[in-house]
Amino acid sequence: MNKQWTIGKIKEFVEKNSDSKLLTTEYHGFSQKLLFKCACDSNFEKTFKKFKNNNQRKCDVCQPPKEAR
Ligand SMILES: [Zn+2]
Repeated sequence: MNKQWTIGKIKEFVEKNSDSKLLTTEYHGFSQKLLFKCACDSNFEKTFKKFKNNNQRKCDVCQPPKEAR
């Protein structure tokens, strides 16, 4: 079941589930990179899919990407 995400719902999700903020104002789909502002004040880009499903909810400095094994 695919939930229909809108930019408003994503913003809400981001604010409820992370310390980051959503800067992007338009949402075009899971493959789109969204711009976030981390709690440390730096901006980072990530798809919402990664943000939500892979728990990547901070910038690469606060949460370094896991190395692929
Ligand atoms: Zn950060």
